[in-house]
Amino acid sequence: MSIKRLQVLHRELDACRACPDMIGPVVHGPAVLSPVLLVGQAPGPREGSFGKPFAWTAGKTLFRWLEEATGANEELVRERVYFAAAARCFPGKAKGGGDRRPSPEEVGRCRTYLEREVAILEPQLVLPVGTLAIAEVLGHTGPLSEVVGQKRASRYHGRQVDVIALPHPSGASTWHRTEPGKTLLARALSTLARHPAMKKALG
Ligand code: SF4
Repeated sequence: MSIKRLQVLHRELDACRACPDMIGPVVHGPAVLSPVLLVGQAPGPREGSFGKPFAWTAGKTLFRWLEEATGANEELVRERVYFAAAARCFPGKAKGGGDRRPSPEEVGRCRTYLEREVAILEPQLVLPVGTLAIAEVLGHTGPLSEVVGQKRASRYHGRQVDVIALPHPSGASTWHRTEPGKTLLARALSTLARHPAMKKALG
């Protein structure tokens, strides 16, 4: 693990303009050397101005979930867990409302950064948040109920890792507020709170 290599990568990320339909700025968390890698989907319209991922309403829900499970507040989680994403720029609005889902080409371009982050961090635990991130990490495109609530051993960019998937904490989603989502989310959070990598990261 090397903080310098992460900082170099972040400078490259900040300068990246590879996707013509994406709206900058590039959003990423700080260069945190952590055994836990959280992979979000893509920033929303507000994250760019705050300069950090999960900075708005979905983030409030995500950090509440994590605090209730681990006892660590948002500030500590941001200091100790590395935040990445399937795409690091705001994709813009979709025609039918909501945020546009990044295209496979955009996710493919941004994957090069994820590969390098995995090589630098050598994470033991990966937390994909939301369907796009779950597809990116596990290749799973079926129902959330088939993956949330489990710990899966998986190869991710050449490394053996444990993966604990979370649903997207968006207020527009009812999945995590209705059954079986509520129970599966509680199981996932309890599993991640007990995971040795999470305990090590949060001290
Ligand atoms: S989404 Fe990723 S690859 Fe595309 S411009 Fe933004 S940082 Fe670059």
